[in-house]
Amino acid sequence: MARRRALVALLVAVAVTACLPTFPDGSSARVSTSGGLALLEWDPADDPDAGGSIDRYLIEIDGVVRATVPAAPQQCRLVGLTAGRAYSIVVTAYDRAGEYSGDAEDGGRLTTSYTPSTGTGGTPGCTPTADADGDRLPDAVETGTGTYLSATDTGSSPNDPDTDDDGIDDGDEVLGTVVGLDLPTMGTSPVHQDLLFEVDWFVDSIDCGTHSHRISDGAVDRLAAAFAAAPVANPDGETGIRVAVDRGQGGAFTGGNQVPDADGVIAGGVSGGDFGQIKRDHFAANREGYFHYVLMPHRYNLTSTSSGQAEVNGDDMIVSLYCSHSDGNVANTMMHEVGHNLGLRHGGDENTNDKPNYNSIMNYRFQFPGVDTNCNPIGNGRLDYSSGTRPSLDENALVEAAGVCGPGAGVPWDWDGDSTIDVDPVRVDVNDADGLFGVLHDHDDWSAIRLDAVDDSDGAVPNALVDDVITEQPVPEAHR
Ligand SMILES: [Zn+2]
Ligand SMILES: [Zn+2]
Repeated sequence: MARRRALVALLVAVAVTACLPTFPDGSSARVSTSGGLALLEWDPADDPDAGGSIDRYLIEIDGVVRATVPAAPQQCRLVGLTAGRAYSIVVTAYDRAGEYSGDAEDGGRLTTSYTPSTGTGGTPGCTPTADADGDRLPDAVETGTGTYLSATDTGSSPNDPDTDDDGIDDGDEVLGTVVGLDLPTMGTSPVHQDLLFEVDWFVDSIDCGTHSHRISDGAVDRLAAAFAAAPVANPDGETGIRVAVDRGQGGAFTGGNQVPDADGVIAGGVSGGDFGQIKRDHFAANREGYFHYVLMPHRYNLTSTSSGQAEVNGDDMIVSLYCSHSDGNVANTMMHEVGHNLGLRHGGDENTNDKPNYNSIMNYRFQFPGVDTNCNPIGNGRLDYSSGTRPSLDENALVEAAGVCGPGAGVPWDWDGDSTIDVDPVRVDVNDADGLFGVLHDHDDWSAIRLDAVDDSDGAVPNALVDDVITEQPVPEAHR
């Protein structure tokens, strides 16, 4: 009896040994890196048990079991490592019966080593690569905290490919794009809205001696400050939109450049052949869909005095300020033109221009003077879109005591210009002398703009996504 029991035990032991999961000859484990993420991959083990299969893999890092990952895919992201330190990594296969390859002879486990070039430590681990929202960031690193710490703790949502709604996928903002656009080096964040521009410019000597239309640091600062102050919420809890302007200043921004041009002007506008050719020659194709393209010639349409042109819901614009390219004019015009790209019109949601109560840089009343800050219909130099807080004005019955901010503000306005604040309502066409008498409304630009409308894949000619092209007024006499 004892002999038979021992024999059974021996047979069982032989059977078990024979059925351990094994890695086929030539199998390996290896680590590759992309955008600061280290991916551990390995070849699959076989389970010889009849009807059996591999259930999971255990990952040991420097002799400590750090992760158990599903049987497929055979990969996980290494996290919590310290730059410059060599780690030994061992992969062990388990089948559904709990048998594991580690007991097998040589080749039962896969080993590799890895020395990361980035990382500040923490607890080593290897996280599954499942990516529910398809943004190329594994769910395990999209921690949903709203705070970006690193490529392995991004703070973004695992269920929203564009957590901050700026039109740039989280994976692109953290890893760079699949076509090699290094957005993270440009400072993008998956939890804070980013707005990117490339500016190319002309140098010419038309009208006012040799001069460059390159956007200055001062104009960039003015534009960036206006967007930074935007009342726009972000997942990181801060307000504002972060602007980056590539004007060839170096570092990550080497795309902006001077465009060689013999006469300083282009024929046509944003839909014309000159613009298209310049964009093809000077704007890297992998920026398409991520950057707004700004061309700054002396003039367009050869001799036009128009200060610019832009696509509505697009990505192309011209800022053409001839000899009037002060920092203020450049910043104001660029914010105006990109406003069109982002979907705004001269009346916000309509083309009606010059509305006294539409307090936006989109309004010709305020484009060059800047918006109003003290409740009258005259600009005070501030660069801003409207937040839509001003009451409507009925041109058939304007209440002068109410001014543009309403009766509570205590700032009356003499709409009919008779030097009296009339008690009775007055009937005046107060916008653009358009001969129409109607109700003029403000518009909440900041809530309406669409950063994800940068989608003009053709590079120049408005496609179906571009609603319109708007040609601007000349620079007003007072601002030349
Ligand atoms: Zn010029
Ligand atoms: Zn305009």
